[in-house]
Amino acid sequence: MAAVFPGAPADKPGVPSNFCSMGEVALNWTWEQVSTHARRCRLPFCDVTVGLVATPTAVVLIDTGTTLREARAVADDVRLLTGRDVGHLVLTHHHFDHILGHSVFAAAQTYCAPAVIAALDTGRAQVRAEALSHGADAAEVDRALAASGPLGPGVAHAVLDLGDVTVTISHPGRGHTDHDLIVLVSDSDRPVVFCGDLVEESGEPCVDHDSDLQAWPTTLDRVLAAGGPSAAYVPGHGAVVDAEFVRRQADWLARK
Ligand SMILES: [Zn+2]
Repeated sequence: MAAVFPGAPADKPGVPSNFCSMGEVALNWTWEQVSTHARRCRLPFCDVTVGLVATPTAVVLIDTGTTLREARAVADDVRLLTGRDVGHLVLTHHHFDHILGHSVFAAAQTYCAPAVIAALDTGRAQVRAEALSHGADAAEVDRALAASGPLGPGVAHAVLDLGDVTVTISHPGRGHTDHDLIVLVSDSDRPVVFCGDLVEESGEPCVDHDSDLQAWPTTLDRVLAAGGPSAAYVPGHGAVVDAEFVRRQADWLARK
């Protein structure tokens, strides 16, 4: 574990002690700082968001990408950035690009809906088929599924007191799926909401057979109520957006 990191002295002004300055060391992914304690990266495959919340005592990861290779690269970056391993893992919903890397973080306490547990148990064939239909490498998907161990029990709500910040995991209602979880980070400079695929920026929100189009706008009202007008909203795919964007997406869904 890279507890001491060259170029990252804790006494460097303006550098939070939980996030090391990178100096000359190369990270695998680009980590965008969203608030003092929250970062995210966008994995090239599917442009899926992986979120990271780190304090001096705890590290929370939100979603894991599609492959073990992606997830191991995330895990390596987290060690470089924080000097710690992931202690808490949130899986926002059961789609392959968010969950298939989860076994890399098997030592972490995992928070996900029962539907995610089912997808990685009895639903494996469907997860595999969806991953391949989006262009995932079959061998990599099979390796990820083979490594997938038991998850559980499923949760719909949890509050993690990380000292400097509180992380609240909740299910705001049906929308992209019937079990989407969001993660509210109550940070000192601004709140951050990791929205999973309830919000997408790089394309239209994905409406499929799992979605509840009628409920989705009201669910986004609850997402907005959780974060408030000044929060940063991190979509499952695409750039970080503001409350006004989420409002427009709710209006667009309501007209659909
Ligand atoms: Zn999704």
